Amino acid sequence: MTFDLIIRGGTVVDGTGAAGFVADVGIVGDRIHAIGDLSSADARDEIDAAGLIVAPGFVDVHNHASNEMEGGILNIPDVENQIRQGVTTLISGNCGGSPWPLGAHLDAVSELPIRQNYGLLVGMGRIRMEAGVGAKAATGEDIATMQSLAALAMDEGAFGMSTGYFPAFVTTEEIAAVARPIAEGGGVYATHMRSEAAGLLDSIAETIRICEASGCPGQISHIKCWGTRAWDKADQALAMIDEARARGIDLTADRYPYRASFSGVANVIPSALRIEAGERGGMEHLRDADLIDDVRAGIGDYMIEIDGPENLVFAPLEPMPDIDGKTLAQVAQERGEEVWETALEMTLRGKVSSIYFVMLEENIRKFMQHPAVFAASDGHLRVLGKGVSHPRNYGTFPRWVGHYGRDEGFFTVEEVVRKCASMPADKFGLHNRGTLEARKIADIVIFDWDTIIDTATFEDPHHYPEGIPHVIVAGKPGLRDGEVSAESYGRVLRLND
Ligand SMILES: [Zn+2]
Repeated sequence: MTFDLIIRGGTVVDGTGAAGFVADVGIVGDRIHAIGDLSSADARDEIDAAGLIVAPGFVDVHNHASNEMEGGILNIPDVENQIRQGVTTLISGNCGGSPWPLGAHLDAVSELPIRQNYGLLVGMGRIRMEAGVGAKAATGEDIATMQSLAALAMDEGAFGMSTGYFPAFVTTEEIAAVARPIAEGGGVYATHMRSEAAGLLDSIAETIRICEASGCPGQISHIKCWGTRAWDKADQALAMIDEARARGIDLTADRYPYRASFSGVANVIPSALRIEAGERGGMEHLRDADLIDDVRAGIGDYMIEIDGPENLVFAPLEPMPDIDGKTLAQVAQERGEEVWETALEMTLRGKVSSIYFVMLEENIRKFMQHPAVFAASDGHLRVLGKGVSHPRNYGTFPRWVGHYGRDEGFFTVEEVVRKCASMPADKFGLHNRGTLEARKIADIVIFDWDTIIDTATFEDPHHYPEGIPHVIVAGKPGLRDGEVSAESYGRVLRLND
């Protein structure tokens, strides 16, 4: 027979954790047809992979590609920062926010030239908004409405539900109740937990309770110990995860390989106040006389959490020379304001994100090496050279593989491919992806174990990684000899696709 594509002579690391072996990979249409000695077989196209690793494409289950404020897939569908890392599938809709309705959004994306596959979680923050619950505890009627919206999202192809930034009035019981139809639909519960700081362990306990009560498999998003008050809690956090797993709860976590986080500067203000301001017609209502004292106090608490305004670096999405790359402490001083005034001002300016240098390298290493933790970026789509960026948008996966796997010796190539491909694919129900075997979809990354490395840094973040010459998406080379293809081969995915 004639194959459409044969990847010849590479070392196949199939994602199961099994030892790599030299073989050819034969593709017909969008599927892997054979793995073995295909030296006598013909193909319409061939890639010489001698000396290279042939592995399942990396699966990034935590990113913000769906985020419209940050560009987003509808605006910049064919950006290259993900495929150049070897990523062939993105699951977005994280941290409680997602497009709505899901089906209409997915239909729109399916018309666009996306370079890698794309699926969604439904954000419970979005569900709460669509249900019109507002800045208060949900009533029984509210919960019933939210449950039907959650069920609808699963019908429209969600891979599960995300939560994040919930104020105290959203109870554990409310979240568990809304997660129940998610569990029934076979989805995962992914959470940016209530606290990653002093309340980290309480938040892990809450996550476990939600998994137990709803029946959802759980995913702790971007697990971290945020700020010095949490730095000694990593071992206890992992012990709680181990204990839950030993009781049969399917709980895992993901981690990006950097010590600074990134989010909208608005997060320095308690979410309950932002929701309240939104209800009143916009963020400028944060200045209302009855809210302003709470805003000041909330920003003060946040500064304690991050150990001071010098750990917050502004990363605006558009050029803003007065704040680009400066710390909050610096900008407040330059403006002759108190820290909280500057923080509020930047929140109201909009399009201002921040990078927070709040984590301990030793903890990141602990998390990455834990058997229930795998790779994810928490990144955004980015146009090369545009805006202030976090290096994770360009370097997450090559850094897991090249820096922590090869250079630091944390993982063998087989182990790190598992953490970058099959573990996330399995957890999020991507049954046709994540490993290389006959009949699976041919989503494949071909990289050089000796040279793969991230090159983006906090100081100079807009750089693609090295050592990843080819990426195959649904059987077609989307990246070949380091060049992206003219056509895009990514697909919109729905659970059970
Ligand atoms: Zn998050």
